[in-house]
Amino acid sequence: MPYQLGKTSTRGKDDVVGPFLATCELTPRRTCRLPPTLLSPGDARTFVEAELCPEHGRAAVNAVQLVASEMVTHAVVHGSQEIELALACRVGEIVVTVTDDQVLDSAPVDATDVLRLALVAKIGRATGVEPTPDGEVWWCTVPTGVAPVPRQIPRPD
Ligand SMILES: [Zn+2]
Repeated sequence: MPYQLGKTSTRGKDDVVGPFLATCELTPRRTCRLPPTLLSPGDARTFVEAELCPEHGRAAVNAVQLVASEMVTHAVVHGSQEIELALACRVGEIVVTVTDDQVLDSAPVDATDVLRLALVAKIGRATGVEPTPDGEVWWCTVPTGVAPVPRQIPRPD
């Protein structure tokens, strides 16, 4: 296995994303750690193929692979040393997050990187960058084609 699997959980840094959608009850959040090498984008695609929710992610696997590999490539070309890729199924969308040790102001390094950022923004339903104590988390949501399930919010008494 070219990547190192991380902990699985139903909660993670991507909880800031899509708080109104229920999380998948079948597939917990999956993470993996990737080294800062040019092999990591390919390993990211392998990780997505193996770990994406089989129930809800089937139609989105190619788009999620593309987004994940471009996000990891961006982290690699910016010199990140610690890269974590995570997938969270929210039934109607997959939340892809890449956490790295870069600061927020990671402007594109070249024209290819400009295209990379545009590609992720075009394929994703929404994307953004959030600061963390040690760097940043870049998130992107990819629609699955499955009808979303609203999160059950307890009613006040
Ligand atoms: Zn799912």
